[in-house]
Amino acid sequence: MTQAEQARDVIGWCRRLATMSDDRTATTRTFLSKPMRDVHTALAGWMARIGMKVRVDAAGNLRGVYPAASSEPEDVRKRFYIGSHLDTVPNAGAFDGVLGVVLAVGLLEMLGGRRFSYAIEVIGFSDEEGVRFGTPFLGSRALAGTFDAGLLDRPDESGRTVGDAIRGFGLDPNRIPDAKVRGDALGYLEFHIEQGPVLEHKDLPLGVVDVISGQSRLDFTFNGAAAHAGTTPMSLRKDALAGAASWIVEVEKDALAVPGLVATVGRIAVEPGAGNVVPARASLALDVRHATDDVRHAAVDRLTRAAERIAAERRLAITVEPRLDQLSVPMDRKLSEMLARAVEQAGCPVERLTSGAGHDAMVVAEKMPAAMLFLRCAGGISHHPDEDVREDDVAVALTAGVKFLEELGRKAQLNG
Ligand SMILES: [Zn+2]
Repeated sequence: MTQAEQARDVIGWCRRLATMSDDRTATTRTFLSKPMRDVHTALAGWMARIGMKVRVDAAGNLRGVYPAASSEPEDVRKRFYIGSHLDTVPNAGAFDGVLGVVLAVGLLEMLGGRRFSYAIEVIGFSDEEGVRFGTPFLGSRALAGTFDAGLLDRPDESGRTVGDAIRGFGLDPNRIPDAKVRGDALGYLEFHIEQGPVLEHKDLPLGVVDVISGQSRLDFTFNGAAAHAGTTPMSLRKDALAGAASWIVEVEKDALAVPGLVATVGRIAVEPGAGNVVPARASLALDVRHATDDVRHAAVDRLTRAAERIAAERRLAITVEPRLDQLSVPMDRKLSEMLARAVEQAGCPVERLTSGAGHDAMVVAEKMPAAMLFLRCAGGISHHPDEDVREDDVAVALTAGVKFLEELGRKAQLNG
């Protein structure tokens, strides 16, 4: 197959797998649902046809090993991982996650039987989005050895636990420790759609991820006093929503002034929430992200002080509750440089991007060197049925992937 044919095939696979859904009318695939098994069956068949040894680990990750040219098959020091996730958000598109797994298999198929001095394990993670159990990365945590056994008791909406789901899929939750990578693997590569508009805006097919942004999430509550909208003069009000509104504008202004900083108030709840009552309480959720943790922490401090100042000026009370402080995760420098060279050899300008979204690579990076390649996606759209990628971009990603594996082969030989 030519690159163009292989790219068309990869996209066709993604579209086909999107029909395997928990939902009749949309693409929704949650942790170890029945359609996840259909996806495993389909992909496992393809993997086996190109000479891969396939299994499903106890965390429900689909894993296929493309053997090395020779030598000890179990030696993880001579194993390179390529993967992404096979679960989706509700009403998803066909490419977020799935593309990274399908592209990996397509890449190996394109080798036409050629082997390297190292084995390549393709891994389709069972859960990245965290939809069913409200906690993400169940699959990659098992690979990295950071799957906390307490997670097994976590229930979904119907009361079935993670452990139940694993047993229901015919797997043994006690064997999750076996899913962990033992020893030092060569590294991990993840192909993923950008989920943002930058590549499209710059008219570029691919981007090498330099760092996955850290995130802060906090809840802010402004407390004032409910009062009659007709009888309470403006000067005598304690309007919680008006205070919150002026703070939201400050959040936007602050983030606009700092390169790379993004800050979002994405949720607001107002009480009592009647058209003729001055609002007594406004509860808001703030999300702040930046590639550098110090910059992010400083922004959170500034925005917290701004909320306190606005509250004081308006005689409101304020409470701030931190919900999440996740550190940024840099991608491995050497692996990323190798990836950048591969992109260049594929005939593409090298664009470095910060990932504003979390990815499996972030979890796997705790265990081995990790790198990520973003593919342009139409309109920057993700988590939506309109998700789309271009055939040309997939073709150039495949070419870059082959160049990458070739250079890794030369390096691994030197080190081995
Ligand atoms: Zn994803």
